[in-house]
Amino acid sequence: MPDLTRRDFLKLGAAGGGAAGLSVLGFDLAEADQVKQNFRIAGTRESHSVCPYCAVGCALVAFTKDNSDGSRQLLQIEGNPDSPVNEGRLCP
Ligand code: SF4
Repeated sequence: MPDLTRRDFLKLGAAGGGAAGLSVLGFDLAEADQVKQNFRIAGTRESHSVCPYCAVGCALVAFTKDNSDGSRQLLQIEGNPDSPVNEGRLCP
């Protein structure tokens, strides 16, 4: 682990929102990020569609949740990793 002063640590946390600074310290955050992702989309419905914003037509996956009042809430949209066009990526 690199030598960091308390001040350096706080600067890294402020600059990177925490995640970038922690990876600089040597922690592997991949597993934690996966767990966080699982919590966000746990129990959601997965629907496949196509991005409508340009002619490329990137494949996407939309995660929705049915609310108790009968409405449906869109929680997250990701690029479809199985698509040969965008391979899981979408424009921001
Ligand atoms: S994600 Fe970007 S490149 Fe892909 S269809 Fe949408 S706007 Fe076009």
